[in-house]
Amino acid sequence: MHHKFHFLPLLLCLIFPAMAEAYPEKALVPGGIALLALPDYQEGTKVTFDNKQIAVFPYKNTWVAMAGIPLDAKPGNYQFSIKHHTGITLNTRVTVKDKKYQEQHLTIKNKRKVNPNEEDMVRIKKERIRKQKAKTIRTDSIPKVDFIWPTEGHISSVFGLRRFFNGQERRPHNGLDIAANTGTPVRATADGTVIDAGDFFFSGNMVFIDHGQGIISLYAHMDHIDVKPGDTVKQGERIGAVGQTGRSTGPHLHFAVFANKTLIDPIYMLPKRPDQPTEKPQMSAYP
Ligand SMILES: [Zn+2]
Repeated sequence: MHHKFHFLPLLLCLIFPAMAEAYPEKALVPGGIALLALPDYQEGTKVTFDNKQIAVFPYKNTWVAMAGIPLDAKPGNYQFSIKHHTGITLNTRVTVKDKKYQEQHLTIKNKRKVNPNEEDMVRIKKERIRKQKAKTIRTDSIPKVDFIWPTEGHISSVFGLRRFFNGQERRPHNGLDIAANTGTPVRATADGTVIDAGDFFFSGNMVFIDHGQGIISLYAHMDHIDVKPGDTVKQGERIGAVGQTGRSTGPHLHFAVFANKTLIDPIYMLPKRPDQPTEKPQMSAYP
């Protein structure tokens, strides 16, 4: 069996038309997305970014590989590797630029949610393992990346903010907060399978949905949950309701997205909205 593998087109395919519909958007910054068009894609080809396997999916008349860039990524060059099933590997690089994220200071009345006691720590450690397991699930099906907004409401906090709770710095904000009244329906952002669902110390009622090939969405602080692990959900299907469970200052949905086990800014996955933050670098470039 012979498989033709053309070198040139792969290297010349870095230009893409701008998209009007919801679709992953290139943002070569920490917390952003790197995209690579693969016009010669054949089944069995694996693509890695920074040595992590990434999602590959068809788009219009080509295929695209999508990589999540970690929030703590240093500016510089990062490598895509395209490993053809015949053994040929091609490498191409992209340059990740710096992005400054703002600070946010929050006051939490329940001090245990900022400085947990020993008993809480036992629980937190168990939940950390559970979260780790959920985010590292990888299924082979073609990922669903045509996301919709998971709830109605205004953006109350953006991704990447350096966070201080009661004056103490904690991990940066790794999702998008959408403020809404308690009870507002929360909907699956795309078709998928529920990986985990339950009550967590910091995140409150939380659901993880697998969309395929390491694309995973997460919904936290919900008032209640309407799904259970193993359920398949359709895009727009109700999975719970907005609440303020866990470490929260008011009712909102914390929405987060993983790609290659990396939390990325969900705004790059969602359709444009008038109230969304405007300081988006390179929003027209693709990839
Ligand atoms: Zn949040």
